This record gives sequence, structure tokens and C-alpha cells, in this order.
Amino acid sequence: MPDQNNSVIKPSGNPFDSMMSRFDMAARLLNLDDQLYNVLKTPVKQVIVALPVTMDNGQIQVFEGYRVIHNNQLGPAKGGIRYSMDVHLDEVKALAAWMTWKCAVSNIPFGGGKGGIKCDPRSMSKGELERLTRQYVRALSEVFGPEKDIPAPDMGTGPQEMAWFMDQYSKLVGYSSPAVVTGKPLVLGGSKGRVEATGRGVMVSARSAMLKMGLNPFKCTCAVQGFGNVGSISAKLLEQQGLKVLAISDVTGGYYNENGINISEAIAYRDSNGGTLAGFPNTTSITNEELLTLDVDVLVPAAMEDQITASNAAQIKAKLIVEGANGPTSADADDILHNKGIVVVPDILANAGGVTVSYFEWVQNRLGYYWTEERVNRRADRNMKEAFENVYNTAQQHNVSLRIAAYIVAIDKVANTTRLRGGF
Ligand code: GLU
Repeated sequence: MPDQNNSVIKPSGNPFDSMMSRFDMAARLLNLDDQLYNVLKTPVKQVIVALPVTMDNGQIQVFEGYRVIHNNQLGPAKGGIRYSMDVHLDEVKALAAWMTWKCAVSNIPFGGGKGGIKCDPRSMSKGELERLTRQYVRALSEVFGPEKDIPAPDMGTGPQEMAWFMDQYSKLVGYSSPAVVTGKPLVLGGSKGRVEATGRGVMVSARSAMLKMGLNPFKCTCAVQGFGNVGSISAKLLEQQGLKVLAISDVTGGYYNENGINISEAIAYRDSNGGTLAGFPNTTSITNEELLTLDVDVLVPAAMEDQITASNAAQIKAKLIVEGANGPTSADADDILHNKGIVVVPDILANAGGVTVSYFEWVQNRLGYYWTEERVNRRADRNMKEAFENVYNTAQQHNVSLRIAAYIVAIDKVANTTRLRGGF
């Protein structure tokens, strides 16, 4: 088991409150009327289901599954499914709302949803995970659909879970339905570039911010918290852009080398080491807490919620924070960072590369025509850059942080769409 002191800081705050306090601030700046405010803040649908699964020892264990659709004004709900012991309703609600704002900021014609199962995937066999995933699809089959609600991977899930999902849903409807879920393996209708897409978007938005700030990537250092799909690929692509990655971390703790870490070696080590960085050579051990306050130019929190809070924000030395995770900064840390002049590219903008390529995957599934990786990356990069410019200009115009600007762009779009659709 990882040393408790080294492991990623346990989220303490309520992520839904954290989301709402930014929403409130942006809504005030937009003069959003009370009625629309109430419509937009309330999730459209919240479902909790019991998932009885036969475990390998023959015993039936009951898991709890969640799916929340926060909003579907811009299109079908979209958002990942998380497998973690920390899953709870307020977390899923917050994550679903962030998906609404993320899709709106990135000009993706989807609403926001999120799901999760309270389980510890690392302690389960492949067979148990498959039965659990299929049970989840069966229990929520009325919620999902290519025109209704389209899941994707999130923490603790990946292409294999999406393959089971697609297969189970297809069995239920009686025909192959690849567009019901994204992040699938390529042979099942996945999109080229999807696995790397979130990390790639983090790199593209980091580059956009660095350009505005006059930071030369070849002279910048960086620390990345979290070494899952998002953290490891962000680190690799930032390294390719010339940044020196001084520290990385995962649930086993942080790994520091003042001369820079070779990220390809770290990824190969993790993959041959049961999925963790435990014992990664030629580095000094640091805690996740220490990683966040290192003297680096760029900090990428890509682990989970509530890592940067009022208790450590004042010690952060990075000039730029690019949020790979959803909700890594609690609302009470926003002002502290802003007053210190630290630029934060917020989650709903910085990590939107994943859902952008999910959208492309859904489009390709429906067309039955598949794009080259070059086309996927070119279109995703362009979309990320345009979203960044739009948020940056809004921030200048309202004299607010990039985070509040991103919420302003998103809420304004969903509010206008809601007004036009009417129907109340
Ligand atoms: N789970 C990812 C996110 O939080 C991807 C969602 C998707 O592709 O639908 O953005």
C-alpha cells in the first residue's frame, strides 16, 4: 500500500460547492436572471443504482452506480465514468456540471454528464470489472444512448471498460451501436488520437498561455502531479516542447530530479512496474504536497480534485498552472493564486482535449468514416487554440481570471441556448 503521507492529498471540500461558487461569480458578472440561474444550476437527471455482482469467490457483492446529467441544452449529455472508492453523488454532480461548461467553452455540441461506480478497480479481477461494467450498462440502459447520453473513460476506466460498455449496450438494443460511448479501442470504432487527446490539449493550452506570458518553453521547468493517462501524456508532450520536467508523481508519492526526468523512461518503468512509479530510479522521493510547491515555471495538477487549496496556495511558486484534472483547485484558493499573479488555465478549458476528440469519435462512428491521426490532432489543436483565445479575450474584457472568463463564456452560451429553446 502507498504511504499515506505520500499519496495524493485526499479531497476534503465539496466539489459541487466549489463548482457553484465559480458559477455564482460568473452568473453575477453576466447579470444572469434568477430564473435561468436556477435552471442552469440544477442537474436535469440524477440516478443511483444498485449493482449486484458475483465476485470470483462466488459471493455476490452490491456496488453503487451513479449517472448524473447536468444539462442537455447544447446536445446529448457527454462525460466519463469514474471507478473509485471516493465516488459520491456531490462529486458526480460537480463533474457533470464541469462537463456542461467544458463542452460549451470548447464549442462542442454536447451537454454535460458524468457517472461513477464506488469501487476499487485495482483490487478487482478483469472478470469482476467486466461483470460490474455490464451490470452498470444494464441498470442505466434507459439513460444512455448516442442521442441521449454518451459516456467515456475517466479515472479508473479506459478503452477496455468502454469496449464492454459498447458491447453490452449493443446487445441490449439488438444492433452494433458504437456511438453510445467514446474512448473505445480502435478496432471497435475508437478514434485515432483519443488516448493522447487530453494530455495533448493540456500541452496546447500550456503553449498558448506561455506565448501570452512571454515564456520560452526551452527555458522553463515543470512539475506534473498524477501519472495516469492525463499526467503522463501531458508530461511527455511538454517535454517534447522543450520544458524540463523536474518532478512527477502518482499514488505512491513524488519523484524529483533537478536535472529533469526522462518521461519516456518513466512511462516504460510504470508500465513494467504494475502501473505505479514506486521505486523509480535516479530520483529523490518527495511528497505530492511538496511537488505542488516546487520552484518550477509550470505546474500541471493532473491527479484529482482539491489538491491546491487555501492551505497550500500561498506557497505555490509556479508562474503558470494548467489544470489537467477536473477541479484540482478548490474555490478558496482562486483569489490567493490570482493575487499572486499566477496564471491558471482552468480545467474546463485545459483538459477539454479529451472530450473534443470524443466528439470527433462520435462523429466518425455516425459517419462510418474514419479520420487519420493527423486530421484528428490538427482539428483538436485548432479547437483548443480558438477556445483559449476566446477565454483569454473575455478575461481581458471583464478584467477577471481565465477561470471566471471560461465560466462566463460557458454560462452565456448555455443560457442563450436555453432562452432560445424556451419550453417552460
Ligand atoms: N473524462 C473526460 C473528461 O473529464 C472525458 C469525457 C469525454 O470524453 O466524454 O473530460
